[in-house]
Amino acid sequence: MFPFNEVMDFKIEMTDEHELFRKSIREFAESKVRPYVQKVEETNEIPQSIIDGARELGLYGVGVPEKYGGQGGDMRTLAILTEELSRVLPSLGTMVTVNHLFLIPLMIFGTEEQKLKYIPPVAKGEKFAAHANTEPGAGSDVAGIQTRAEKNNNGYIINGRKIFITNSERAQYFILSARTSSPEQGKRWKGITTFIAEKGMPGLEIGQKFKVIGLRGEQPNEVIFNNLYVPDENIVGKVGEGFKVIVTTYDYSRIIIAAQALGIAQGVFELAFNYSIERKAFEKPIIGFEGVAFRISDMLIKLETARLLVYWAAYLADMQKPLFLMASSMAKTYATEVAEELSDMAIKIHGGAGVDSATGVERYLRDSVITTIYEGTNDIQKLTIAKTLLKLASRSVDIG
Ligand SMILES: Cc1cc2nc3c(=O)[nH]c(=O)nc-3n(C[C@H](O)[C@H](O)[C@H](O)COP(=O)(O)OP(=O)(O)OC[C@H]3O[C@@H](n4cnc5c(N)ncnc54)[C@H](O)[C@@H]3O)c2cc1C
Repeated sequence: MFPFNEVMDFKIEMTDEHELFRKSIREFAESKVRPYVQKVEETNEIPQSIIDGARELGLYGVGVPEKYGGQGGDMRTLAILTEELSRVLPSLGTMVTVNHLFLIPLMIFGTEEQKLKYIPPVAKGEKFAAHANTEPGAGSDVAGIQTRAEKNNNGYIINGRKIFITNSERAQYFILSARTSSPEQGKRWKGITTFIAEKGMPGLEIGQKFKVIGLRGEQPNEVIFNNLYVPDENIVGKVGEGFKVIVTTYDYSRIIIAAQALGIAQGVFELAFNYSIERKAFEKPIIGFEGVAFRISDMLIKLETARLLVYWAAYLADMQKPLFLMASSMAKTYATEVAEELSDMAIKIHGGAGVDSATGVERYLRDSVITTIYEGTNDIQKLTIAKTLLKLASRSVDIG
């Protein structure tokens, strides 16, 4: 069983509430989102009607306790929300759930005052939030950030530049990471602090928009701090311990990315299966050819394996089992690779129609590529898995 203890560690429990919730999100995605998918691809914008519709349904508050203005719900509920939105429009999955990259660190490390001030407006969809960590010189290497925060009276003056920051044009609130002291020898992760900043504070600027391969409608931007003053009360967690705040956030949020990839895989599987029945060649539906039938079966096997991993990781997180850390890395890696592979297979099944943007298949491939990169590339997930294994085996080997 190593590294797991018992068969019960593989249990996944879903409830009737989860299923009812899934149905309501699917109905929203099919009726209010699907009609606009092509328009989003063409305009690179998510229509206001969808953003408002998500608010009316309370989607921004899923996974947030009612005490802070949310809808309640656990990681499994959040995974269902992300899967169902991403099945139809992955960039909407990003737009709705990227707020959690702000909410999760506040819920875990924030003071009660910070929680009461910043969480309710985001959970109610009145304000949007962004998470600014990546820099031109540091993505995977969180400890390598160069943004500096210098102590000044009752706060800090922050200077630096963040790139690929999702939601930053829309966001009013930001959680950002900055160095408050130089890295210690052998302990590079020390000396980073996380702060909340608000749009409108002098020195917080939104820079260029990046034109990335996919997720049209939700393209990230550069965020620049130019002598941005942030008061002490906006520090999230402890001074010098921001690395922990950032990586703990990703422990949870990578389950959301895994669920986004699962939604992509589900979406392309359905397209490919339907097409394989409708499309005729040599006077019969192409699923009548063994090569196509086997491809469809392989797709389903991988899709459902990814689903098991995603909801297993979410369930372990809900049960606060320590191994959810490793399970979430496994789910993120596998589900995102499956999303990419299934999108490619769906294109092959569609032939020429698969690469025509009007068919709506190729966009899933472009979106899936991003899921393998953000919130920790899959290489980084594999490092986490290997490091956890070594720790569990009480073995010390330097793997970076
Ligand atoms: C569309 C999009 C949206 C994003 N949104 C946000 C956001 O909202 N907020 C935010 O802060 N960031 C965001 N990011 C940034 C994203 O999290 C980073 O791009 C990602 O973490 C990888 O960092 P990097 O691009 O610097 O690549 P690098 O870290 O430079 O990695 C380059 C390559 O080296 C590999 N590599 C690096 N280190 C190791 C290692 N130790 N072992 C093995 N391989 C390694 C990587 O796997 C990768 O293949 C977004 C990115 C994209 C594309």
